[in-house]
Amino acid sequence: MVVNLSLQSKVEIKSNQAVRKIVLAGNWKMHKTQVESLEFVQKFKSEIENTEEGREIVLCAPFTSLSVMSKNLHGSRIQLGAQNIHWEDKGAYTGEISGDMLTEIGISYVVVGHSERRQYFGETDQTVNLRLKSAQKHGITPILCVGETKEQRDTGATEKIIINQLKEDLIDIDQSNLVIAYEPIWAIGTGDTCESIEANRVIGVIRQQLKNKNVSIQYGGSVKPNNIDEIMTQSEIDGVLVGGASLEPASFARIANYKIS
Ligand code: PEP
Repeated sequence: MVVNLSLQSKVEIKSNQAVRKIVLAGNWKMHKTQVESLEFVQKFKSEIENTEEGREIVLCAPFTSLSVMSKNLHGSRIQLGAQNIHWEDKGAYTGEISGDMLTEIGISYVVVGHSERRQYFGETDQTVNLRLKSAQKHGITPILCVGETKEQRDTGATEKIIINQLKEDLIDIDQSNLVIAYEPIWAIGTGDTCESIEANRVIGVIRQQLKNKNVSIQYGGSVKPNNIDEIMTQSEIDGVLVGGASLEPASFARIANYKIS
């Protein structure tokens, strides 16, 4: 096997010595009814029939679609993710969802700390930390999102902001069951992708903060079929978290089927 040194850790996955899993996750946000979700899955399944083994494909769907998708995806390689989890197992928390409710229907991943939750729904580093703990307690892998605003980037505060988020979010968190997504907020849903070399650099900074250097770290922010190949050639980037481009089966399949030349 010809191994590009910068890709070595990811290539190793194929020979099973490996550690850094490649995780390609779609975050559907508040899109798709149950019928639309099943239509997506039906088309998408056939498009990923030949996707390389070792690439974890995850669909983070709205709560209303998860149960029906779980039944439909039984036996397939597609993993299901939720978009939120509460830290209590039950109680008077209107509008929230518990780990037990998610594990009962076979959820493997959950997005935690997405910038939209932080910005619009009062999510703080403290509640992010509680949600991460809850996910892990239930055996669900949290995808922790961190990232800076445009203003923070422009004032040179990117590293400081992210290091601080990680410090607060990861208190007492088991780093052996964790995925992190570096999502610069200015790149989310804007078409303004972070240069892949810069995303790689920041992800390297994130990795330096971790006790477990083998945590899979994704890039997220306007990932599309036309930039995925370049993003995935970067040595530190172990996958992607995709919003808009995960809504169409062919588009997300092209992302899952990324090619490295
Ligand atoms: C996201 O919501 O996490 C995201 C990265 O969105 P988009 O791909 O649309 O920028």
